[in-house]
Amino acid sequence: MKDYRINTKCVQSGYRPSNGEPRQIPIIQSTTFKYDTSEAMGKLFDLEASGYFYSRLQNPTCDMVAAKIADLEGGSAGMLTSSGQAANFFALFNICENGSHIVASSTIYGGTFNLIAVTMAKMGIEVTFVSPDASEEELDAAFKENTRAMFGESIANPALTVLDIEKFARVAHAHNVPLIVDNTFPTPVHLRPIEWGADIVTHSTTKYMDGHGSAIGGAIVDSGNFDWMAYGDRYKGLTTPDESYHGITYAEKFGQGGAFITKCTAQLMRDFGCSQSPQSAYLLNLGLESLHVRMKRHFKNGLGVAEYLKDNDKVENVSFPHLKSDKYYDLAMKYMPKGGCGVVSFEIKGGRKAAEKFMKNLKLIAIETHVADARTCCLNPATSTHRQLTDEQLAEAGIPAGLIRISCGLEDKDDLIEDLSQAFESI
Ligand SMILES: *Cc1c(COP(=O)(O)O)cnc(C)c1O
Repeated sequence: MKDYRINTKCVQSGYRPSNGEPRQIPIIQSTTFKYDTSEAMGKLFDLEASGYFYSRLQNPTCDMVAAKIADLEGGSAGMLTSSGQAANFFALFNICENGSHIVASSTIYGGTFNLIAVTMAKMGIEVTFVSPDASEEELDAAFKENTRAMFGESIANPALTVLDIEKFARVAHAHNVPLIVDNTFPTPVHLRPIEWGADIVTHSTTKYMDGHGSAIGGAIVDSGNFDWMAYGDRYKGLTTPDESYHGITYAEKFGQGGAFITKCTAQLMRDFGCSQSPQSAYLLNLGLESLHVRMKRHFKNGLGVAEYLKDNDKVENVSFPHLKSDKYYDLAMKYMPKGGCGVVSFEIKGGRKAAEKFMKNLKLIAIETHVADARTCCLNPATSTHRQLTDEQLAEAGIPAGLIRISCGLEDKDDLIEDLSQAFESI
């Protein structure tokens, strides 16, 4: 559906029923698929014919939803994974191996930071973290001979830094390395990293794409723009025969637009099995059908709450990229002129104690370890996810004890502000 606008793609991409077929995406709740001859099935195993044989690798429901997300991002191919963690791991591990090196933004999501810094390190893959604000020269200096991927988040969770995608892509490409961008927070409704030079885009679909807190999931989209063959000796997994898969050379057989996702499916999904269930993919698609409508409201509520907090004398400071006073305002306007996401963070005066009291008094806004849900929720890292740290350790980690993150949902903005306001009165 390349010719339609993003709003139409959210509703209709990925599945166009023919005459008499179901209007809604069918949930193909089947682990396996039946064939009349061994020869027909053999062709699928050899990747000679396209079709389904086992849902760990591919499932029609999941593929329809993956096709919609690929279309939304403007990519050449896409796939779903069981979670955002699996999506980021697969996107990196598809082109990295023991002895490789990654350059990653330091403000990425804690789970991804740990994945790269701790778990992938155990696999012999090293990383250099760079500030998202680093100059082109500083980024340049982080690259090594064995660097195989550069990674960042378009809007970081929860740091709310905005990635200068053009700058990161320019440096990555100067080193013949692809840029991978986790685009979970703005979603393709507000930002499409491929249009700015990103090569691979990942998502935790658990967040805005699902949008209702109902299913964990992830997605990977390939732009089809990175020429693996041109740097064949660095990306041997794509450019030389895969002996574990009948000697197929992915970049030759599936071309620049299909190689990355086909290898990721045939190899990593086969071996690690982080597949999304058809039932979850169905729920994800329901979320996607209204993504364009919901993102507008999430953003509007986020901006309204951020503006309210900015003028509140019990608040030390507020982070929201689209707030004029924010450090990232210019980048936000460049990459997301129509809006970003609904996540706001602020530091309450009075630290941990004030934060605890304030949150206890919220009536509508719930305390949750989640973001990007239809229902507004908030979290104070000092008294929850980071409660083992002292105030000094928190300050070192760049998380003040009074920091509160609010993920604005789809409720009426005025009700959210009234709830915040009455909770402020309690302190
Ligand atoms: C939540 C999140 C992830 C991890 O996704 P899960 O679906 O929870 O595995 C990765 N990246 C970002 C930016 C996220 O917000």
